[in-house]
Amino acid sequence: MKTDRRNFLRTAGLLALSGITGMEMLFATSGYKVIPSSKKGLSLSFLSYELQLQHVFTLANSSRKTTPDVLTRLEIDGVVGYGEASMPPYLGESIETATQFLSSLNLGQFNDPFQMDDILQYVDSMMPGNTAAKASVDIALHDLVGKLMKQPWYKIWGFDPSDTPNTSFTIGIDTPEVVRQKVAEAAPYKILKVKLGQATDRQMIETIRSVTDKPLCVDVNQGWTDRVMALEMIHWLKENGVVLVEQPMPKKAIEDMVWLTQNSPLPTIADESLQRLPDVMKAHGVYHGINIKLMKCTGMREAHQMLTLARSLDMKVMIGCMTETSCGISAAAHLAPKADWADLDGNLLISNDPFSGMQIIDGKVALIDQPGIGVKLLKNVF
Ligand code: MG
Repeated sequence: MKTDRRNFLRTAGLLALSGITGMEMLFATSGYKVIPSSKKGLSLSFLSYELQLQHVFTLANSSRKTTPDVLTRLEIDGVVGYGEASMPPYLGESIETATQFLSSLNLGQFNDPFQMDDILQYVDSMMPGNTAAKASVDIALHDLVGKLMKQPWYKIWGFDPSDTPNTSFTIGIDTPEVVRQKVAEAAPYKILKVKLGQATDRQMIETIRSVTDKPLCVDVNQGWTDRVMALEMIHWLKENGVVLVEQPMPKKAIEDMVWLTQNSPLPTIADESLQRLPDVMKAHGVYHGINIKLMKCTGMREAHQMLTLARSLDMKVMIGCMTETSCGISAAAHLAPKADWADLDGNLLISNDPFSGMQIIDGKVALIDQPGIGVKLLKNVF
């Protein structure tokens, strides 16, 4: 009895020193583990990190060799979550805007990371736009909370990891020789994504068809302006083993897209036409499906809401990406079990990935049973 009392007093003293009192002490002395709210709050740090691309990346209207990126690190009580903002220049964000946005945040006011709704609503309310910078906080927060729960997000969301689709590997617009070389590099992939939207579109498809009969997705990046020509092209593409057409016409050509979707023998998918949750309703009836990207929609939380809404509207869903590190790609991969198509090859297009994470095994997104978003920082960059 004396020993019990001594132990109680010693425990009480230690708890008092650590600032734990009252009901918490009662739980502690009766065998419950007390996890006090952090006194310090969330701590955010970030680092600019330029992604080096392995090939010059050519779209219908631009080319580049690097992508500006900012890595984020969110910490509470010694537990760390990682995130990133990838910012292809045509989307309007930059290292300067992301740095300015992240510097304006006071996340130290939040000492319970589980209050994700309040935290992310605060982040979203700070400034309009800045979707990639917002995604970098959202991803780091999901990583952190998943680690605190000791579970990966696909499990928290209740998804079956074996449901993931094959992921496509992107072949950019290039000379026939380089295109053939890229198709050879894409050997492990069961589906290829081909960038179209130029006068050489048929030649591009014929070049690929001369070396492989794999199914193809095509991404026109708004490159076709005549809807009759677009429909003719889609019929020809279907005969050549294409399974879907992404953003065939300019995002403003809504009436043309309604007509094209009604007549198209292949599913049409909105990419540039859509960014965030309210845009899903706008895309309904205009496209058959949507391409969800974390960098466009402020991160995993809104992407999950978009996925749910699109499914309830009987729309198709693709999970896509920018050129990103394994951090952003792994975060997006947790949504893949509920997607019709995954286009998660952005990490494979860069040569300086500081993370390891989601893998492609036998052409499929392979989710790993690691808490949070399931990434490891390989280089001690921050
Ligand atoms: Mg696209």
